[in-house]
Amino acid sequence: ARERYAFIGLGHLGGHLAASLIRNGFTITVFDRDPAAVERLLTLGATAAKSPAEAAALAGNAITCLPSPDISEAVLAGPGGLLEGLPKGGSWIEMSTNGQDEIVRLAFLASASGVETLECPVTGGVHLAAVGKITALVGGDPALYKRHRPAIEAMCAKSFLMGPIGSAAVIKVITNMLAFIHLIAAGEALMLARKGGLDLAQSYHAISASSGNSFVHETESQLVLNGSYDIGFTMDLALKDLGFALGMAEKFGVPLELASRVNAIFEQGKNTYGGSAWSTMIVKLLEDAVGT
Ligand code: NAD
Repeated sequence: ARERYAFIGLGHLGGHLAASLIRNGFTITVFDRDPAAVERLLTLGATAAKSPAEAAALAGNAITCLPSPDISEAVLAGPGGLLEGLPKGGSWIEMSTNGQDEIVRLAFLASASGVETLECPVTGGVHLAAVGKITALVGGDPALYKRHRPAIEAMCAKSFLMGPIGSAAVIKVITNMLAFIHLIAAGEALMLARKGGLDLAQSYHAISASSGNSFVHETESQLVLNGSYDIGFTMDLALKDLGFALGMAEKFGVPLELASRVNAIFEQGKNTYGGSAWSTMIVKLLEDAVGT
């Protein structure tokens, strides 16, 4: 029979992931501290629970997509948390982005209650998540990956088993570091094009077909050019992930000059627009500094 899942954290990303499970015929029980987020999933066919514990007890396995490791820990191991509801032999699939040390520690907490953890952070942004085409980066036991692969494939077009718990966090933090560097590089490129008197739509297309292209340029530069900046990913989350990258750099003794600079620019972005502004607003910060 198909595995059943509790889904906790129905925000910009989690809402789409949960909807993909339903669209593919999975039965899910949801919880979020925001009633409006729960309501959206109920209209799609999810069942609501009063706590993570209740959702987990009903489903037998749990998926989380939450904004910080502290919140993941509270939802996992706090009062009314998943570990109060999951049966022994149940699984916790953590889809939030964590640092390596954080997910290893949380998985250890879960295993003390007889719950196995699969880390499954995703990459590609909310627009790909909305159509079930995001990429999953997986860390954990291969048999556990196999067991939950149908659910992962309902949400994600591709998945990569990277190694044991913690290994997916490493690659996820690396790919986000690259994405933030690319975003600032693409923004600077567009500013140069504008100051150089070029048509920006034509510049966008020319770069997309050139050696300067990147996934970030293709998917985010349009949001900058149309002024919406609506990427569905906030400055706070960018700073969280850059913090993990810089932490890893220190731990492993790898100098990250670009990421350090990018982190400082995002700090400035947060100070200017607030932590809940879209991360793409970082380009507006640069534009405003240069003047149009
Ligand atoms: P979000 O803030 O939009 O959503 C988080 C959800 O968790 C919200 O609905 C919030 O109400 C809920 N929540 C917070 N605390 C809670 C609690 N104690 N109990 C129950 N629910 C609680 O964040 P998001 O953009 O969906 O990101 C979630 C995670 O996914 C983060 O780790 C982020 O880094 C990662 N991620 C996001 C994206 C993206 O494009 N948004 C892409 C890849 C990875």
